Amino acid sequence: MDKRTHFSIWYLLFAFLVMFFIQSVLFGPNVETIPYSDFVKLVKQGKIQSVVLSDKLIMATPTPSYVEELKASGKVPAWKLKKHQILTSVRVQDPKMISLLLSHNVRVSAKLENKWLTNFLFSWILPLILLFIIWSYFFNRMGQGGPGLLSIGKSRAKIYEEKETGVTFQDVAGQDEAKEEVREIIDFLKYPDRYQAIGGRLPKGILLVGPPGTGKTLLAKAVAGEAHVPFLSISGSDFVEMFVGVGAARVRDLFAEAEKRAPCIIFIDEIDALGKARGIGGVAGNDEREQTLNQLLAEMDGFDTKKGVVILAATNRPEILDPALLRAGRFDRQILVDRPDVLGREAILKVHARKVKLADDVDLKVIAKRTPGFVGADLANLLNEAALLAVRKGKDQVGMKELEEAIDRIIAGLEKKKRVMNKKEKEIVAVHETGHALVAEAVPHGDPVHRISIIPRGIGALGYTLQLPTEDRYLMTKEELLDKIAVLLGGRAAEDLTFHEISTGAQNDLERATDIARRMVMSYGMSEALGLVTFEKTPRSTLMGETYPSPGQVKEYSEKTAMLIDEEVKKIIQTSYDRVKEILNAHRDNLKRVSEALMEKEVLEGDVFRKMIGKESEANQKEAEVMES
Ligand code: ADP
Ligand code: MG
Ligand code: ZN
Repeated sequence: MDKRTHFSIWYLLFAFLVMFFIQSVLFGPNVETIPYSDFVKLVKQGKIQSVVLSDKLIMATPTPSYVEELKASGKVPAWKLKKHQILTSVRVQDPKMISLLLSHNVRVSAKLENKWLTNFLFSWILPLILLFIIWSYFFNRMGQGGPGLLSIGKSRAKIYEEKETGVTFQDVAGQDEAKEEVREIIDFLKYPDRYQAIGGRLPKGILLVGPPGTGKTLLAKAVAGEAHVPFLSISGSDFVEMFVGVGAARVRDLFAEAEKRAPCIIFIDEIDALGKARGIGGVAGNDEREQTLNQLLAEMDGFDTKKGVVILAATNRPEILDPALLRAGRFDRQILVDRPDVLGREAILKVHARKVKLADDVDLKVIAKRTPGFVGADLANLLNEAALLAVRKGKDQVGMKELEEAIDRIIAGLEKKKRVMNKKEKEIVAVHETGHALVAEAVPHGDPVHRISIIPRGIGALGYTLQLPTEDRYLMTKEELLDKIAVLLGGRAAEDLTFHEISTGAQNDLERATDIARRMVMSYGMSEALGLVTFEKTPRSTLMGETYPSPGQVKEYSEKTAMLIDEEVKKIIQTSYDRVKEILNAHRDNLKRVSEALMEKEVLEGDVFRKMIGKESEANQKEAEVMES
């Protein structure tokens, strides 16, 4: 784009030069400049026919006979000697000139110089042209990659249309409930007449809600694929442009396009980018987003479902959506696309395993059990990682070993064997991780240790202790939470006991422990001093399995209560810490032995670890939770 602009500037200059040249040489009269004295001489010799006087110049036309004379003399090139031969001379102050001219019978006329056109050209048109060139140059740069000047309001550039998505329900695994719920829509899109005949009305908008990577986009595509209708998709963030009014225009376009293609599906991904509740987040008074949202609401209201257009939208943050979006007649039906359970995970693994060559020893059931909390995208990634590992090892099949390694990788980040720790650091990390592991095995509700490692992984994590919970957990008791805190504090306490000094390595542990303690006090009413009171009212999406900082949350308690909360949290942590130290004190020799073994081998499997501390091995398969430090 740069190049072209430069080029056109030079082109323009060139054109100007050519024009001047043509003007002055080809179309202008032939002009020869002579000194004033020569001019006077010519007049006296009677060789001037007429003159035109202007402010500064004298333009004289010679008599035909003088022209002939000049031609004959050969002094002046022939091409200059045409009919309109004119001699010019700069006019000097000569009061006698007029009388001289008149006495020699020269026809005298005067001319007012007309500069209007040139003035206009140079003072107005040229600057304007320059300005336009500069402006368009910058505008082009701004819009690089984006739509050009003329397509601002057209969403076509951003609407992705697929005539046939090619995705079917078979590609979506482990979301049976969600699939059941969208089946009706497919039916409607396939046979709109049937529904019209009865007068049934389907919801206009359906909101797919769930954490990232659970297959919302996939499900939406599968609906289109199953119904064999076009799939128009656009992302919420595509609506939010920097020019006010563009987003609204895009919405209008989108619905117009959809109407033309009906029956079809409109899919708005990440609708939270545009549908945030008004007044929260972003700059105060974000006019553009508000205008776009209003346009969307208006289009949805004015839309007739009978035409066979179904609007699907996806979000992982339903709690921040503007309530107006969720009202009846808009996105009034929500479908939960949640994290898959063990069976779901196994089904998803099976879907993606079709593309990979698996060895006979691979049991996807076991893999599914090891990957709680994994979403579809993670599982797809897992198989891919395992395949890459197998290739790197020169195998032609993916075995259980690669899959396990891939799980570890995804859970704890990539192995960074190359990273060297000094001996002291290694010792600290070994003691720290052993502390976690010992506490995990000692407390009654601790999840069994699956593996201890001091191989650095990812960024910031120096080692990790992997625990395997026995089942998916939805509810936890106070004791279980306290045990969790104890395990988290185990690393720090072990360092404290062994070296009588502490490192910075426990920051993440402390953060997580504090977070659990704070939630026990504030959300779960588990503090005796504060009683059965919860201090967090704003909706948090528990279905995500994680909490988002709720927007615009207002503290609904006094400073005094706040202090009390802080005190209670501190008390929980302190009591737990004392308890952990006691546990580790009783296991001092174990701590020493295991940490030394760990320094040597870098990785200890759970069973080996339990044998070392004289504990029965846990036979059953469990699910992993990672404890990084
Ligand atoms: P979301 O839109 O919820 O963030 P996607 O639909 O984009 O998630 O999923 C990303 C990828 O993960 C999909 O392309 C697919 O390969 C895989 N995936 C996610 N969920 C599933 C599922 N339930 N079954 C099969 N594959 C899935
Ligand atoms: Mg998506
Ligand atoms: Zn730790």
